[in-house]
Amino acid sequence: MYIETTEKLLDFIEKSPTAFQAVDEMQKRLTENGFEVLSEKEYWKLIPGGKYLVTRNNSALIAFCIPEKESRVFHIMASHSDSPSFKIKENPEIKVDNSYVKLNVEKYGGMLMAPWFDRPLSVAGRVIIRRNGGLKEKLINIKRDLVMIPNLAIHMNREANNGVSYNPQKDLQPLFAVGNTDRTLLEIIAEQTGVKKEDIISHDLFLYNRMPGTIWGADKEFVSSARLDDLQCAFASMEGLLRAQNHESIAVHCVMDNEEVGSGTKQGAASTFLKDTLLRINMGLGRTYEEYLMTLAGSFMVSADNAHALHPNYTDKTDPTNHHPVLNKGIVIKFNANQKYCTDAVSAAIFKELCTKAGVPYQTFVNRSDIAGGSTLGNISNTQVPMNTVDIGLPQLAMHSPYETAGVKDTEYLVRAAEELFA
Ligand code: ZN
Repeated sequence: MYIETTEKLLDFIEKSPTAFQAVDEMQKRLTENGFEVLSEKEYWKLIPGGKYLVTRNNSALIAFCIPEKESRVFHIMASHSDSPSFKIKENPEIKVDNSYVKLNVEKYGGMLMAPWFDRPLSVAGRVIIRRNGGLKEKLINIKRDLVMIPNLAIHMNREANNGVSYNPQKDLQPLFAVGNTDRTLLEIIAEQTGVKKEDIISHDLFLYNRMPGTIWGADKEFVSSARLDDLQCAFASMEGLLRAQNHESIAVHCVMDNEEVGSGTKQGAASTFLKDTLLRINMGLGRTYEEYLMTLAGSFMVSADNAHALHPNYTDKTDPTNHHPVLNKGIVIKFNANQKYCTDAVSAAIFKELCTKAGVPYQTFVNRSDIAGGSTLGNISNTQVPMNTVDIGLPQLAMHSPYETAGVKDTEYLVRAAEELFA
């Protein structure tokens, strides 16, 4: 079961090189399972027993199930669709000494830069094309090894193994072509999509790691892949929603974009996307605003974003007492006194009980008091939709590397917890 779930996860991640494809994949999977697609631009007619989804910017998605029996509770699991990468700039080709062409890229999010060197990369995202006098969005994934960021040889930088600082404008520009070619990235995209180059008006394109996911280790206990943060949680949340039967609450699977750059966009956790959707569910069921507020007060959210596991080479980086999660030992509940994680005694207790009911293990994470740690989407989302919220994640190593490592059992654990939450 664990391996099967992990293999499904790897398949999902491979089909989701950017947030746009991740949302498209989830939409396909959910509609195949009877979810009806709603548009924010139209009226919503909701019925008990109905299953729906809505997207924003085609990079954030909320799917929800209305129970047959009347319910005044939302049970939400929130995760994010984006991962750190390099975004291709508007006019990307840079000619180098009439010998090479490289692409001009900028950082998206806070990645580990070193592992982006010396590995086959490609380009994915979306383009906006001119079609029949209007504009049309098209997903792009150039499914071949297309670019590479070559390292500087040790002979030209004898300090390379003593700590290097990278300048993204100088060091991280991927090599695209050799010779004084006039061939552009958009030409390749035009060829692949059968669209005229002149009809491609604009783009949101990112680099991605071409290396497929793998299951490895003495007993095949590890899984490594790009974008485990946070597609592992997004996938588990979706699977939990699909498995859950006989909903007693309004089950909400929520995947936001732009967590890696602070969530402050129309499709991020700081936006009104979740609030608007919950309000419209409330209105679609013919309820008043006061009833909406009453519903929020009794609702519960699980903010699911991956967590740091104990690192075998850096055990000194973890908290001195038992707050060092290990791969395959279960879902990580995250605590932070400064409320970067919104877990408190109440939400922790509710979630621990939920794990026990679901029969899955959990562990806890707190940063060392001298390490600031990261942030996530729970507390940001809570400013729009206040409700009891727990911050959790699956334990992983090498967070924000283009090739991260997790345990093969933990995805299934979160699927079961999500199923319990949603049912
Ligand atoms: Zn994350």
